[in-house]
Amino acid sequence: MKPSAFRYERPTDLQAALALLATGGDARILAGGQSLVPMMNYRLAQPACLIDINRVSDLDYIREDGDVIAIGALARHGAIKSSDLIKAHLPIVAEAYDWIAHAAVRNRGTLCGNLCHADAASEMPAIMQILEAELVLAKVGTTRTVAATEFFVGTYETAIAEDEMLTEVRIRKPAAGTGWGFEEVAMRRGDYAWCTVVATLEISDGNIVAPRIAIAGVNDCAARLGTVEGALTGKKPDASLFADVAATAAEAATPTENAAYKRDLIRALLPRVLNDAVERAG
Ligand SMILES: Cc1cc2nc3c(=O)[nH]c(=O)nc-3n(C[C@H](O)[C@H](O)[C@H](O)COP(=O)(O)OP(=O)(O)OC[C@H]3O[C@@H](n4cnc5c(N)ncnc54)[C@H](O)[C@@H]3O)c2cc1C
Repeated sequence: MKPSAFRYERPTDLQAALALLATGGDARILAGGQSLVPMMNYRLAQPACLIDINRVSDLDYIREDGDVIAIGALARHGAIKSSDLIKAHLPIVAEAYDWIAHAAVRNRGTLCGNLCHADAASEMPAIMQILEAELVLAKVGTTRTVAATEFFVGTYETAIAEDEMLTEVRIRKPAAGTGWGFEEVAMRRGDYAWCTVVATLEISDGNIVAPRIAIAGVNDCAARLGTVEGALTGKKPDASLFADVAATAAEAATPTENAAYKRDLIRALLPRVLNDAVERAG
């Protein structure tokens, strides 16, 4: 199918883009177009106006800002995946990209577009939550910052308002010695997740410190597993502990489909992710 008719705007600076958003009238940002354009072609989205930000070149960056890595709205998945800064400080992000889409899609798609699209089976919403990323939302005359843990509200639903644009993702560099794990089961590498489990943690005096765990592809949006994090904190890494918390997480999940299978995946993947994180920690 073809999309329904829409107005097309191509601003060259952020303020012009925000001004267009502020005029209301069902306008949407066009970044990589890798999710929005198919949705428009299927007429699942019928925006009256597209604001193409691809010429707002100031938004195309991945940079160090003190102890924060800042990623602009036009940074493409492919650039993030191959960035030395990301590999050095956020290896889980670089590695996870092996599982996210294919080179052609990664060359156009953006991290910010991915987060705003908020597919429940997307990997980055889970990863941004365990990295405790902050999302900078701008509108005419003001900006606010929302924690990634507060941003995802449901399938394709986020905390962003209609007149706001996600301009930057800010991720504090993890403490030295932070271990991480990523596991996914999908139909094929590059497809959306049936189940993704991600974790970071530190080890101090042999005990688990600051565990952060999230799943995607199961519930209606990616989410942290607060109960599991609480159960692991201060404990020694141990196979039976990991099996217990995985069983708890599986029971607590609210899969939107294939519930028994998704719970099996959580039970299988979570201990592996925790083992990898412990191995990499310290
Ligand atoms: C074949 C294929 C396989 C894929 N596989 C995966 C996968 O395995 N995992 C995965 O996570 N994704 C996957 N994707 C999706 C891909 O990651 C997209 O690039 C991403 O979801 C959307 O990014 P985009 O820049 O293309 O956004 P667009 O498609 O341009 O926009 C998506 C939505 O976000 C809004 N938006 C975009 N940027 C902003 C902004 N800065 N501020 C406010 N709103 C904004 C748009 O208005 C729109 O509603 C796949 C896509 C394809 C085509």
